[in-house]
Amino acid sequence: MEIKKELLRRIPKIDEILAQPQAAQAMAQGKKAAVTQAARQAAEQLRSRILAGETPEISVEAAAALALEIAEENSRMNLRPVVNGTGVVLHTNLGRARMSHEAALAAMEAAESYNTLEYDCRQGRRGSRYAHVESLLCQLTGAEAALAVNNNAAAVMLILGTLAKNRQVVVSRGELVEIGGSFRVPEIMEQSNSALVEVGTTNKTHPQDYERAITDQTAALLKVHTSNYKIMGFTEDVPLEQLAEIGRRRGLPVIYDLGSGALTDLAAYGIESEPTVQQAAEAGADIVSFSGDKLLGGPQAGIIVGKKAYIDAMKKNPLTRATRIDKLTLAALEATLRIYLEPEQINEKIPTYQMLSMPLEEMEAKGRRLMAKLADIPGLHCQLAEDEGQVGGGSVPTQMIPSRVVAMRHESVAPDQLETRLRLEPLPIVGRISKDRYLLDMRTTQEEYFDTIAQSVAKATAQRGREERE
Ligand SMILES: *Cc1c(COP(=O)(O)O)cnc(C)c1O
Repeated sequence: MEIKKELLRRIPKIDEILAQPQAAQAMAQGKKAAVTQAARQAAEQLRSRILAGETPEISVEAAAALALEIAEENSRMNLRPVVNGTGVVLHTNLGRARMSHEAALAAMEAAESYNTLEYDCRQGRRGSRYAHVESLLCQLTGAEAALAVNNNAAAVMLILGTLAKNRQVVVSRGELVEIGGSFRVPEIMEQSNSALVEVGTTNKTHPQDYERAITDQTAALLKVHTSNYKIMGFTEDVPLEQLAEIGRRRGLPVIYDLGSGALTDLAAYGIESEPTVQQAAEAGADIVSFSGDKLLGGPQAGIIVGKKAYIDAMKKNPLTRATRIDKLTLAALEATLRIYLEPEQINEKIPTYQMLSMPLEEMEAKGRRLMAKLADIPGLHCQLAEDEGQVGGGSVPTQMIPSRVVAMRHESVAPDQLETRLRLEPLPIVGRISKDRYLLDMRTTQEEYFDTIAQSVAKATAQRGREERE
């Protein structure tokens, strides 16, 4: 007790910490508020450690060093880049699609200057923010009209809220999807004040199930792409063409929530094909919605394409204002769509497709370049190994894509310790552990970070292992 009290008394005062040379220097360099705040946190941290029975170093020099360390940590962006070593190309927790350089530049330009967001230069008067991407989307998908909003969840709400408010929408029980992060088809319908009429069973839905459910209260038929799961075995659903035929015959719009919404056929990448937006439009969907940051490889957005009369009605809905897309996103989306105008540029310029089209030999070569940078780290053993990644983003859920990983093992630092330490670096590295090895997937790990990765691995393995420390 007495020892604790004595230690607590000896914790340096804030002023003393701030008077230490490095602290004073940082204060003089325009970091007064940050260093003062950090000095308080340092003193507080020492206090709690003493109260917890520890005996931290409490000299004024040590407290100042701690304060500067805390100041450095506080100054880091909370939202910051990470190394994606997971092999999941569209990793929702890691920001989904990486945008193209063209898209990033366009967003930066829109951010730093005044722009034509809602200004029509030709007419010299107010213009529409939705016009910037509409004709591009029509050109690329063959649709009559288009609208971009905040995300696909908002798009679906807007579609249902416009076309089916206070009326019924027929959906197959096999398509009542939940997407991570609380998008659930039944709840979205509730929010948009449309009544869900479930038809069929989990595994089988037939055309007559839809036919029988249609009443004078029915506003639309909804098809949802089961993007993140697959029902296998004794199953049957109603193909879009057939659903569209029922819709036409009964005078009802057919809405298709496509989820991922690729504009390019994934079969070209050796990946099981997802329906493309063009195919969905051709098959007769009146309205198709999809995300901007899944297989489109652009910014977060919800894109709606389809019949002009329906899109026009949506543009007038106040919900459109509440879910509207901002100028940075719009600029990035336009730049992304422009790349699709020249299909041969897709693999080169859109990171998602750069990664999906990367040959195994290239991943191997990349792995060897990383291993060369890791070669001199004492006690570290690296190996190039075969492994599998995923498309991610709720697309192609059942297919793993072959990839190559750099697998690391250290003589005294366990894989889970390595994993933790690398994750806590200023540039966090997110890898996987498999069979007692730490893995970085070469499809998704960005080469521009190789030097930093090597430094971080060197640092993480230079610290002693857990057994010796704890
Ligand atoms: C991902 C997805 C959504 C949600 O899209 P966000 O852009 O994340 O809002 C909705 N429906 C389906 C089928 C999806 O795959």
